[in-house]
Amino acid sequence: MSKKSKKDLDTFTCKRCGTCCSGAGFVHIHKDECISIAKYLATPLEEFFDKYTVADAVDGERFLIDGPGEDKPCIFLTRDADGLSGCRIQAAKPRQCQGFPFKWRRPNFEKWCKGMAE
Ligand code: SF4
Ligand code: SF4
Repeated sequence: MSKKSKKDLDTFTCKRCGTCCSGAGFVHIHKDECISIAKYLATPLEEFFDKYTVADAVDGERFLIDGPGEDKPCIFLTRDADGLSGCRIQAAKPRQCQGFPFKWRRPNFEKWCKGMAE
């Protein structure tokens, strides 16, 4: 199986493996995004903060929490019966998520992102 080059993202198609939404790491969400996502979920903002986020002890910036599971999935990661992953807040997902893998990448992402396999 050949691999796409790290620079060859113009033909990239997400294979919905969910790996980028799992494991170590954080999804940083800014205040405007919290408001948008809470509205999308029809959830009061304070309830959204309590149920889905944790605040940084130093500056109060917020991060999405992990859902249950040893692979530390994002709280909003869904898995279909066919094994494909999805995002419960796809239409309102954070900018950090929108930017992967085009604007930023974790090291060696081409080794685990199935969209990078031909
Ligand atoms: S790791 Fe790659 S293929 Fe898998 S869900 Fe994320 S972007 Fe899509
Ligand atoms: S918000 Fe959606 S796209 Fe972002 S990490 Fe969570 S499940 Fe993935």
